[in-house]
Amino acid sequence: MNPPPIEPEGVLGVLGGGQLGAMFASAAARLGYRVAVWDPDVDAPAHRLAAYSFTEPFADHEAFARFTDLVSVATYEWENVPADLCERLEERKPVRPSGRILRRIQNRLVQKTFLDGQGFPVPRFAPLTHPDRLHDAIEDLGIPAVCKTATAGYDGKGQWRIEDRSTLPHVIDSLRRCPAGMEWIVETLVPFERELSILVARGIDGQTIVYPLAENVHEEGILSMTLVPAMVAPRVIERSAALARAVVERMQGVGLFCLELFLLSQDIVLINEVAPRPHNSGHYTLNACNVSQFEQQVRTVCGLPPMEIRLESPAAMVNLIGIDAETINHDAACRRLLSLPGTTLHDYDKRETRPRRKMGHVTFLAGELHIARERALEFQSLVKALRH
Ligand code: AMP
Repeated sequence: MNPPPIEPEGVLGVLGGGQLGAMFASAAARLGYRVAVWDPDVDAPAHRLAAYSFTEPFADHEAFARFTDLVSVATYEWENVPADLCERLEERKPVRPSGRILRRIQNRLVQKTFLDGQGFPVPRFAPLTHPDRLHDAIEDLGIPAVCKTATAGYDGKGQWRIEDRSTLPHVIDSLRRCPAGMEWIVETLVPFERELSILVARGIDGQTIVYPLAENVHEEGILSMTLVPAMVAPRVIERSAALARAVVERMQGVGLFCLELFLLSQDIVLINEVAPRPHNSGHYTLNACNVSQFEQQVRTVCGLPPMEIRLESPAAMVNLIGIDAETINHDAACRRLLSLPGTTLHDYDKRETRPRRKMGHVTFLAGELHIARERALEFQSLVKALRH
């Protein structure tokens, strides 16, 4: 028997207070819940939307006790929060997705080994425990390859591409400079035709809902644009949706997940990564769907069944990276695009603008995807010009 859903007015705990936590808090408030945010960064945007804020270090025992007493259920907004904290929390309150899933996902090597072991398609990979063994891994996998830190990497951080043998000494040098005890995963650099992603919500009762397939464009390892629905063959859509359902079912996951995928020639789909939380490429759902990824996260974390979803309009989402919304609002050409019907600016209200930092995003809805895409591209080139 599943436990009853968390009643409105219950307090939902979220570990991590970035923009994903902030959007979770807004969705929760709209559904009648209050949110306790725990992030040691006092400037983290989600604190400003939280009913309760915890800014102590995650290792603080007294804060842990107060947080655990307060919340009815907890989740996390990114995978680099300590898994042991989630597991300890779970001894007293439900954590969704579970600490076991977080532990499995937060280490790329453990994650890929799990997926591969379950028969899910992933790029070929090899573990790397010492920089000097990189040659062996490359012998096995061939070139081109990519070496990634097993933990703590995101947005292309902690990654080294190996396009030819001459780069090996330089990569080994960089690996030697990493903190002691570091582990890596080396992967074949696959010749993908497109990058795709798909959101999947799974309820406590096992009911699973998948969102439309999205196409993503990255620049320097950071998501720059998402287009929905992805213009790919129907069998790619079917395969991706089936993979998303199967992976989350196999993990017995409860919550909102995202699969990042590579589309290769002949409609081959490989899994790059699984995120146990809403995803930047799913922000389009805030404006283009009847139920956003954050609302679905709140529902599933609270033990409510996921909702059927509808894509109300094609959408193009552009990330605002290293530039703030104020700068954009001061530019007449940007303002013209932002005031077109179907366009929404989301400002994450971060205190400090930094290069490569995600500061907000803009979603363009239009009756046809190519119109939304053209607006997004025009906007993106204006933003790039303003950034320099
Ligand atoms: P990740 O942090 O693993 O999601 O990687 C960031 C980006 O690097 C991906 O979105 C891809 O553009 C690229 N990438 C990562 N792994 C591979 C791979 N095995 N083959 C080709 N490109 C990759």
